[in-house]
Formats: sequence, structure tokens, C-alpha cells
Amino acid sequence: TFQAILITRDEAKTQSVATVAMTADELMPGDVEVKVEATTVNYKDGLAITGKSPVVRRWPMIPGVDLAGTVLRSDNPRWHPGDRVVLNGWGVGEAHYGAYAGQARLKGEWLVPLPERLSARDAMVIGTAGYTAMLSVLAIEAAGLSPQDGPAVVTGASGGVGSVAIALLAKRGWEVLAVTGRTHEADYLTSLGASTIIDRAELSAPGKPLAKERWVAGIDAVGSQVLANVLAATRYGGAVAACGLAQGMDLPATVAPFILRGVSLLGIDSVMAPLGKRQIAWARLAEDLDPQILDAMATEIGFDGLIDKAHQIVEGTIRGRVVAMFD
Ligand code: NAP
Repeated sequence: TFQAILITRDEAKTQSVATVAMTADELMPGDVEVKVEATTVNYKDGLAITGKSPVVRRWPMIPGVDLAGTVLRSDNPRWHPGDRVVLNGWGVGEAHYGAYAGQARLKGEWLVPLPERLSARDAMVIGTAGYTAMLSVLAIEAAGLSPQDGPAVVTGASGGVGSVAIALLAKRGWEVLAVTGRTHEADYLTSLGASTIIDRAELSAPGKPLAKERWVAGIDAVGSQVLANVLAATRYGGAVAACGLAQGMDLPATVAPFILRGVSLLGIDSVMAPLGKRQIAWARLAEDLDPQILDAMATEIGFDGLIDKAHQIVEGTIRGRVVAMFD
């Protein structure tokens, strides 16, 4: 048996969360069994465990959208016992039993080989948040932008996506402006590579359709008014990758930046991203993230700490990334 966190719902649709003992027989269908060595707490895991948003689509559910571990058994020709793998998304932890358990049974086509340079712990310090930050950087590069064109802005800077985005951009030579509601984290953000800290309050009130041009690229984990203001202050020909909604799902913007400054809004989805894109992203993450930078953004917990951290991430009080190591 192994421990698992199980989200259940009663007839009145009231949700509860408990730690239970499970056996592999109880796992959902799949062709590869993985021993989970590490997982993490993403914003989405917080939403699932608190029930704040309808992330869970099947009850009961084991949450956890990210895992790193070792293949135990496989009926899939791509995978063999002992292979080290990483999994992000694909509806795992939402519609298929997820990472908050000692074992997972998954579809082989969801798995990515863990890059040689990364440990299971490194991969989960990165997690979906970091892999999404990487997809965002790749999208900005694919839009033809480079550090020579001007600075880049990152919103939700102290959070998971934000922290990794700052480190990745700085590593490739971008001047990074970090937007945060926690200006007391300025030293932390500077240590990751930010050169300027902007108080989120500056971008939280409705602004003009076009504002003074301040950056040429952006990675936005926040949405809503902040994203609208980020777009309005993007330089001619720039691009902003939208990957999150920590402030809200709405976008109270105008088309002015698009039609008057040729600004592009780049949509980023990590959950259903195809395998080829994932492999490129993980290879770049392994190349661009130094172990010291990963350590600077990590808070380590064990299995027992997952539920508490899930509540904290929804409250917006977690800095950087949480990594959970299993025995
Ligand atoms: P996180 O660690 O909680 O980071 C979110 C950050 O946003 C917070 O640390 C905070 O940063 C800022 N924030 C919190 N509440 C806010 C508010 N009311 N208004 C403005 N800013 C606020 O979460 P995460 O794991 O990095 O995820 C960030 C977002 O990306 C989430 O919305 C998540 O669902 C989304 N996401 C999307 C994908 C995808 O595939 N598109 C993948 C992963 C994550 P400061 O304190 O520094 O301001």
C-alpha cells in the first residue's frame, strides 16, 4: 500500500480531502506505473484541494498535476522499469488520478524522459509552473524578439511561474522588470535576475488604452487589469505571453496596442501541449537553470505538507516554488 490524498464529494456536492491508504489495484487505467519520488504544489493544485474553482472533473480524485519518478512497470514499448520520467498536466490530477500518491498509473505518451542533468527534485522545483514559464519564453523567441529589442516584464513575479520566468529571461541576457504585490521580496527577485521592481498597485487600476512604452516583451501570470496595462505599455512590435489568471480571468483591455503598435498577445497552454514542444522545453530548462537558482526559489516539504501548502498558494502567500519529496 501507499499513501494518497483523495478529494471526495458528498451528495450535496460538498468537497472533503483526506489522506488514505491505497493499493495499485485502485489506480485508474494506464500502461505505465510510476513510483512517485517528488511532486509540487501548483496554483491549480491549490484550486483542486480548496475547491475554489472547478478544476476536478471526476470524483473521487487524487490531485497533483506534476510528478517526477521512476518507472516500476510498463506495457508501453517506449518505457522500461528504471526509466526516470517527468509528467506535467494532460488532465492528471483533474480527471485522472494524480501525483499526490506513492504510485501513479499513467499513459506512456504523457511522459517525458527526465533530462540527464536534472534530479527528480530539480524537475519538481521547476514543475508545471517552470515549464509554463519556459513555454512562454519560447513563444517570445518564436515571435522574433531578443534582448537587443528592449526589456521584458514579468508579472506575478514572486510566484512560481514568475520566479522561473525571471531566471530564464535573465540567463539569456534580457533586462527583466518584475511586477509584484510583495515589494518586500525585492532582494529575492533581484537574486533571480530582475533589475527593476514594479509595485503591482501601479498596474492594477484601469489605465489608458495606450500608455508610455516600457517593455518589448512580457510574461503574464496574472491576467485581468494587470495584463491590460502590460499590453498598453508594450513597445511597438512587442509581444506578451499570457499564461495565468492569478488576478482574474477577465481582460478589460482595448485593441489599441494590437492595431496601433502591432503588439501580439501570445496564448500559452501547458496542459495539452504536444510531446515535441515539451521535450524542447525540458531540454532548455535543464540547460538554462543553474542548481543555485533552483535552490533559491525552492521550499521543500514532505507528503504531509501538501494540503497546507495547497491552501497557502491560493491565498497568494507562497514565494517561488514548493517541492515535495516522498520517502
Ligand atoms: P503562484 O505561485 O501562486 O503565483 C501567482 C502569483 O501571482 C503570486 O505569487 C502573486 O505574485 C501574484 N498574484 C496573486 N494574487 C494576485 C492578485 N489578486 N492580483 C495580481 N497578482 C496576484 O502560482 P503559479 O503556479 O505561478 O501560477 C500562476 C498562474 O499561472 C495561475 O493563474 C495558474 O493557474 C497559471 N498557470 C497556467 C498554466 C498554463 O498552462 N497556462 C500553467 C501553470 C500555471 P506577487 O506576490 O509577486 O505579485
